[in-house]
Amino acid sequence: MKIAVLPGDGIGTEIVAEAVKVLQVLDLQFEMEQALVGGAAYEAHGHPLPDSTLKLAKEADAVLFGAVGDWKYDKLDRPLRPEQAILGLRKNLGLFANFRPAICYEQLVGASSLKPELIAGLDILIIRELTGDIYFGQPRGRRTAVDGHFPGAEEAFDTMRYSRPEIERIAHVAFQAARKRGKKLTSVDKANVLETFQFWKDVVTEVHKDYPDVALEHMYVDNAAMQLVKAPKKFDVVVTGNMFGDILSDEAAMLTGSIGMLPSASLNSASQGLYEPSHGSAPDIAGKGVANPLATILSAAMMLRFSLNQPEAADRIETAVKQVLASGLRTADIWSEGATRVGTREMGDAVVKALG
Ligand code: NAD
Repeated sequence: MKIAVLPGDGIGTEIVAEAVKVLQVLDLQFEMEQALVGGAAYEAHGHPLPDSTLKLAKEADAVLFGAVGDWKYDKLDRPLRPEQAILGLRKNLGLFANFRPAICYEQLVGASSLKPELIAGLDILIIRELTGDIYFGQPRGRRTAVDGHFPGAEEAFDTMRYSRPEIERIAHVAFQAARKRGKKLTSVDKANVLETFQFWKDVVTEVHKDYPDVALEHMYVDNAAMQLVKAPKKFDVVVTGNMFGDILSDEAAMLTGSIGMLPSASLNSASQGLYEPSHGSAPDIAGKGVANPLATILSAAMMLRFSLNQPEAADRIETAVKQVLASGLRTADIWSEGATRVGTREMGDAVVKALG
């Protein structure tokens, strides 16, 4: 098995180094090969996703990704910006299913802005369709309006669209994930207003016939946004389109109080996947050795479970992370009175130690 390791920019290099350290002590049979991506690749090769990096990612069974981006690249032409590397990897590897768990660890209940009783024990999974919807739909652009409220005015437009196979495949992934968890799936749409999401709702309902053991509910996205802060534990698995999923998964992430704790996985139909923390490259703290590496370490655990068929090793990492938190060690982002503040490297070392 081969893992492509793409640390990227900012804190990416610091947190990926810790995840690699954790993977190395597991004594499993896999090869890891590192390559540049994002701003680092742009500096070295003039492109955020050089052919050599893309080739490595395609050949690998899984990609362990740090983060890309820095404000200094904001003035570059869009295709050369670091963030384009992620879009390029998603497209070229066909990564259509994004898994974002939001788990509230017992020891970190106080980090949430919600009341402890609302989030203690929270364990939900948001599955976001990643390659369709208004983010990719054509046509799009700017033009002079010929109708609407202001004919003759300059306007911009995007196209929301989903095909039946796109909805069917993400629905199957979501029902299968729900089947392995609490057997409850919430499909989020805006069927009351959007034709695309009435179609989404109809197709998800049809796919449900293959999964009679899973309870399906449909919820409008505005209600889902409210329910996530009102009673988040009512959810088990949530499936939705690209744009709604983008927003809801960030909302769910913040329920737990720390973006530094949240892993993610993006998978294709061959279970090849890209695993990365839910946060970005955090230029404000890059190079200071204070970033929380746990989201990346937990992403490595997801990689072992979903792409490398090593569920026991994944369990071991997750247990080690819980032990480290129980021992009172905290990076600055999750620190609270009475806990021991540690840096990126000490946190990685502590997980390695807990793995025995
Ligand atoms: P960000 O997630 O990088 O940072 C938001 C805040 O959270 C910052 O205050 C940061 O210090 C903090 N933070 C993030 N990760 C942390 C960690 N592991 N430990 C401790 N604190 C952490 O989001 P941003 O500031 O909006 O974006 C910064 C750059 O990252 C931008 O260039 C953006 O485009 C890019 N970005 C990349 C990805 C990705 O690579 N997948 C995702 C989001 C943003």
